[in-house]
Amino acid sequence: MEFVIIGIVVLIVLIAAMVGLLVSRGRRTARLDPAPGPTRSTPAGSGTATLQRPPAPPIADRIEAQAPEAPADTVTVPLEMPEPSARRMVRLRSRLARSQSALGRGILSVLSRQRLSEDDWEEIEAALLGADVGVVATAEIVERLRTQTLVIGAASSDELRELLALELVNALDPAAERELRLSGLDGHPSVILVVGVNGSGKTTTCGKIARVLVGDGRSVLLGAADTFRAAAAEQLTTWGERVGVRTVRGPEAGDPASVAFEAVKQGAEAGVDVVVVDTAGRLHTKTGLMDELGKVKRVIEKHGPVAETLLVLDATTGQNGVVQARVFTEVVDVTGIVLTKLDGTAKGGIVIAVQRELGIPVKLIGLGEGPDDLAPFDPRAFADALLS
Ligand code: GDP
Repeated sequence: MEFVIIGIVVLIVLIAAMVGLLVSRGRRTARLDPAPGPTRSTPAGSGTATLQRPPAPPIADRIEAQAPEAPADTVTVPLEMPEPSARRMVRLRSRLARSQSALGRGILSVLSRQRLSEDDWEEIEAALLGADVGVVATAEIVERLRTQTLVIGAASSDELRELLALELVNALDPAAERELRLSGLDGHPSVILVVGVNGSGKTTTCGKIARVLVGDGRSVLLGAADTFRAAAAEQLTTWGERVGVRTVRGPEAGDPASVAFEAVKQGAEAGVDVVVVDTAGRLHTKTGLMDELGKVKRVIEKHGPVAETLLVLDATTGQNGVVQARVFTEVVDVTGIVLTKLDGTAKGGIVIAVQRELGIPVKLIGLGEGPDDLAPFDPRAFADALLS
């Protein structure tokens, strides 16, 4: 009898062990088979998001069956989270250094010579002029460097490099206010008006600025007042959509001022922090430009003052850009410069020339076509990159 009872107990234990084994295997298999959802990949350098949907296994079907109705072929693109502005210069520094390496190398190799002769100083002067620093600023920088090297005597190349960096920073008016002015009045959005000639990177810059602001935690609305270039409104809308920012558009070839007015009105109604208005920059006739931009600004000001008028300049146009810039400063009260395409020129000294000749601070720099390749301008980081 005892043997029968022991036999039954052993049998029950064996059955329980086998059931336990089967259940745990089943669980492990389920864990190894996650439901692949839509995956998102960003091709290097393109800055655009593409979506790839892998074949859906049964578990994905079950999830989709419970989801609220959606058209079969639409895939919701998750919003991008742009990089906050503070970290950008660090990331983009190497790009600036790469495009300016010839300038840095040239000057530093002269500075490393034991005793600087008259020819050496001329070489330094030529390198600065060649980098578009401008005649007046170059003369001042060289003069101050010469005096300082005389005072401190034979300096090491590191010390000379530091002296030159300080002179470049001085030439860039380090005390100038470079923060974007974003003080909205009584809950009214701050308005940023973006002007510049077509092709300078104006629309791209509006999109990038929207990303900078979103990355810094602000709500934004875009106004597509460049109604003359058919693709501009579309381009701006796409930039906005990627970060959840709405764009107010008007009819093609419509009145830019009324689009700008409507954008600021809708921005105020929606309670956004900032409205960024893109404008057209045809330079056919100065009078036409004056009329149009002046009207856009006047109309916006019916809602309240414009907080910031940014002039976008293409760094690769060199001194020509400075001449163009003057026309704009005569039409509207420009409060800051955005220098684009600094990644594409070895003449980074244009930053100094532009700021000194126009007397307006460079506030942002464009260092590539990528969506977050716009950085706040920092004179010291710029001088270091130039001489790295
Ligand atoms: P707009 O006519 O002034 O509005 O000019 P767009 O915004 O359409 O820009 C003209 C071209 O300049 C586009 O191909 C942009 O991608 C390019 N661009 C803008 N900013 C930069 C920059 O900082 N670096 C480089 N390499 N290209 C830029």
